[in-house]
Amino acid sequence: MVQSGQVLSLDEVFTQGLRVMEPEIVDVLLPDLKQEVLGIGFVQKQTDAGEKSRFKAVVAVGNNNGYLGVGDGKAKQVRIGIDKATIQAKLKVIPVRRGCGSWECGCGRPHSLPFQVTGKCGSVRVEVIPGPRGLGLVGGEIIKTVLTLAGVRDCWTRTYGSTSTLASTAFAVYDALRNTYSTVTYADWVR
Ligand SMILES: [Zn+2]
Repeated sequence: MVQSGQVLSLDEVFTQGLRVMEPEIVDVLLPDLKQEVLGIGFVQKQTDAGEKSRFKAVVAVGNNNGYLGVGDGKAKQVRIGIDKATIQAKLKVIPVRRGCGSWECGCGRPHSLPFQVTGKCGSVRVEVIPGPRGLGLVGGEIIKTVLTLAGVRDCWTRTYGSTSTLASTAFAVYDALRNTYSTVTYADWVR
């Protein structure tokens, strides 16, 4: 559908309830997508054949303007782990709804989130709270990187659980931002 010109933007993909099945689709529709390797870990597993060790990479992609994906991938080589994680992140690209949900600000511009959202992954819970323009991002490095890729500029964040787990933290922020669209507001009803 992308090749034949039936779908011209990722907005159309999501408003029509379609899903991204190939990472190349994201490359075509979001050419300005940026990629950040959030971290690389080492995973060891005991198997019948002995010890098996692999690298685990966590990658976030985003266009700094309302689209975000986070993925992970395991492989014997770091490079391949990163590639796998990048493909996963592209397949999981979602739209992020932005707004000015800060009562102190009220500028109406999409520099923050429209309301507070919470996301979870494993034992980690992350709250993202709208802040006034010029505040910047208040939180850990992983959280700041993910929010920046999504195009969110001014927010406070609060984290609970074992936030040293890099992957869980990144996926919890992703989950929180996904909730910017799954939450129906009063304004959506009256529209
Ligand atoms: Zn504002």
